[in-house]
Amino acid sequence: MGRYVYDFIEGNKDLKDLLGGKGANLAEMTRIGLPVPPGFTITTDACRAYLRTGSVPDGLFAEVEEHLQMVEARMGKRLGDRHDPLLLSVRSGGKYSMPGMMETILDIGLTDASVAGLAAQSGDDRFAWDSYRRLIQMFGRTVCDVPPRDFEAELDAAKAAAGVIADTGLAAEQLRHLVEAYKKVFHAHTGRDFPQSPHEQLFLAIAAVFRSWNSERARVYRTQERIPHELGTAVNVMAMVFGNRGADSGTGVAFTRDPATGRRGVYGDYLPDAQGEDVVAGIRDTMGLAELATLNRPAYTQLMAHMEKLEQHYRDLCDIEFTIERGKLWMLQTRVGKRTPGAAFVIAAQLADEGVITLDEALRRVSGDQLAHLMFPAFDTAAAPPPLASGLAASPGAAVGRIVLDSAAAAAATGPVILVRRETNPDDLPGMIAARGVLTSRGGKTSHAAVVARGMGKPCVCGASDVVVGEDRITVGDTVLRAGDVLSIDGTTGRIYPGEVPVRPSEVVRYLEGEIGADDTPVVAAVHRLLAHADAARRLGVHANADTGADAARARRFGATGIGLCRTEHMFLGDRRALVERLILADGDAERDAALAALQPLQRADFEEILAAMDGLPVTIRLIDPPLHEFLPALEELTARVATAEARGDQPGRDGVLLAAVRRLHEQNPMLGLRGVRLGLVVPGLFAMQVRAIAEAAAARVRAGGDPRPEVMVPLVGADVELRTVRTEAEAVLAGVEGAPPIRIGTMIEVPRAALTAGEIARDAEFFSFGTNDLTQMTWGFSRDDVEAAFFSRYLELGVFARSPFETLDVDGVGRLVALAVEEGRAARPGLTVGVCGEHGGDPDSIGFFHAAGLDYVSCSPFRVPVARLEAGRAAL
Ligand code: ADP
Ligand code: MG
Ligand code: MG
Repeated sequence: MGRYVYDFIEGNKDLKDLLGGKGANLAEMTRIGLPVPPGFTITTDACRAYLRTGSVPDGLFAEVEEHLQMVEARMGKRLGDRHDPLLLSVRSGGKYSMPGMMETILDIGLTDASVAGLAAQSGDDRFAWDSYRRLIQMFGRTVCDVPPRDFEAELDAAKAAAGVIADTGLAAEQLRHLVEAYKKVFHAHTGRDFPQSPHEQLFLAIAAVFRSWNSERARVYRTQERIPHELGTAVNVMAMVFGNRGADSGTGVAFTRDPATGRRGVYGDYLPDAQGEDVVAGIRDTMGLAELATLNRPAYTQLMAHMEKLEQHYRDLCDIEFTIERGKLWMLQTRVGKRTPGAAFVIAAQLADEGVITLDEALRRVSGDQLAHLMFPAFDTAAAPPPLASGLAASPGAAVGRIVLDSAAAAAATGPVILVRRETNPDDLPGMIAARGVLTSRGGKTSHAAVVARGMGKPCVCGASDVVVGEDRITVGDTVLRAGDVLSIDGTTGRIYPGEVPVRPSEVVRYLEGEIGADDTPVVAAVHRLLAHADAARRLGVHANADTGADAARARRFGATGIGLCRTEHMFLGDRRALVERLILADGDAERDAALAALQPLQRADFEEILAAMDGLPVTIRLIDPPLHEFLPALEELTARVATAEARGDQPGRDGVLLAAVRRLHEQNPMLGLRGVRLGLVVPGLFAMQVRAIAEAAAARVRAGGDPRPEVMVPLVGADVELRTVRTEAEAVLAGVEGAPPIRIGTMIEVPRAALTAGEIARDAEFFSFGTNDLTQMTWGFSRDDVEAAFFSRYLELGVFARSPFETLDVDGVGRLVALAVEEGRAARPGLTVGVCGEHGGDPDSIGFFHAAGLDYVSCSPFRVPVARLEAGRAAL
């Protein structure tokens, strides 16, 4: 049998697994000499044992008794004493903070006998009886499941009888009667009297806190926050101190810096003559900490000193709970505090400036996700009305639109709409695509709505349980909004607002675009500093996926040092479609060559523009990749057109020819069909035309005095012979273009077979670029375009994966292919350049893996470039 109880003096802040966050930090505060009421922590081991067996482990209560004696000795009071009783709080607290999700019971130790002692000792009858009735209420509810409304009914009756509105209006005598009434309620529900043994109260309370780990709301919260269900909670037992003993007492919460903005200087709320729960419950208006300074100077000065000490000790923003009893200050809780993304950057940079932490440490404390948040446009909250309701911040960004309540209405709407549903399912997909944002009243962060919206990069608030979704309206309390009314939803904070809230562009984006200076706002200054440090620290290069000169230019402003993926197929759309159709329909070499010859100058002009925007930096150009029928009209559309023509008695003409081509090119599984390198091998001259356009564009740039650095990338290779064949042809073309700089030829690694035979492929490739989107689809064998809506939310629920493998690289599966290909590729060709150009290149959680796998660079959309720079820097620390 292990040991289950640790005195606060024995623990420290690093024992969160064992003592929970609250317990570990109470121990740490005790250790560094801050005034914490004496107490001890029962370990999470004990909780796990209890949850496993349904009863408290042997010997636990004996251990508790031993530690209790020490608390009694230090307080000079005894539990249950009829003259001067010690009272206890029994508080939950797991490894990760789960605010308000589990139980805490205050005032344990009050009985019919000891309540008189408390009254006599404090000289305050009212206080004693009020504490007793609070205990019966809290104990009844949490330990014995007595419905709270039964206590509330008695309280209301007592207030009505006394003719008062607030609890505080009840006199001692009235509270004493209320205690009698509460005891009857307790008896009626439990069939027993309220326990008159303080020790029994304590033991029952401890077991109830253990059980509260598995309460419905705690489970839901953990699922959302991805906190493992098997951790269990610790239980903190500590001497009560009282903030509700008159004007020189009170309770409050405080932060060592402003958690919203990161501004220096303490920040907090104080409530005189109150117990901790009252502050959180928001039943009375609190005052700012500054007012405490005038109310109780010595306690305030001490509090400031303690906060300073905590910040220096934790070297970070701390939040605290404190209570003042008759002028004496007690610290009841601390932890490294949560903060907004902007505050995270500001605080990290400040602490580095103050010499409290190094710049490396500052960089560790911010994340790419936080930076990504700062790059979304946000609501101008100063101009916003109070939020109507809030839900889970499921997919970030701000959206404004008219309310639509079903998918068909969303798809049919003109102008921006917000799709509001109780929950969504795959039938809502067209509506979600059409909407600016999505709001649901049910479901968590892994619900269908959340997963699909994140995949689309669309703002989503889900699980807004106060919103009642009707047929033609939504109702929140007394407010009714009808379909067609304007609604604003904030997927970054989870808040929703009636009407149109003005949207403010991101200050970080304005800085990156050069519209404002690096010192113009505190957040921008901090981002600038930490990005610069990340750039200095990182080994990974950051390139961008860009197909146009404008995108390339933006990527460069955002800090990209090259293009990792320039897709050429986009250049075949729009008015050029007709040319592509000619190519596909070509009957014989001459017609095909003519079509290619017409396309080539257009491609060359596009490449020139991009090479100019990325002058001096590598531009990796991928030869055409998608199946050709993507460039032709859809089968249904053509069939209808041809049918209409025939019905009118007209000749279907060109449409008829097209229809035949579409039928001929139709594939059951186009993503696994005639595309990528396969196209290049069966459509003569196609790749050669593209390669010539690249070489001629580069030659033109050289003549113009530029420094073009194009590279040719072959998609979808699975065998070295495929690459060698294309390469031989491409080299012949390159040799024929005068004035072109040397142009490297490499391949994407996106077919599992390419990864498995990377050693052979590397003999013909000067570089590899992992196409992790295709590599993920082909490794898992599911199509990205279909599965997210179809079954991903179920898979997330089941824990098949914790995140979509299209969002965060599946390190265990796809990651092994990547690692293998890097190793065997480099073994075959030392100095082989290796990058990644799938979506994962911009994913904070995947970048650490790419760094560790030894890649040379990641490539991502221009907008993600700053995020990738930051994460690449963090990965290198
Ligand atoms: P939560 O984790 O939900 O914040 P806590 O365990 O912190 O729950 O308890 C809630 C409140 O009870 C605290 O804010 C604190 O003010 C009050 N409280 C807890 N223990 C004591 C104590 N020993 N003396 C006085 N108040 C206490
Ligand atoms: Mg707390
Ligand atoms: Mg691909």
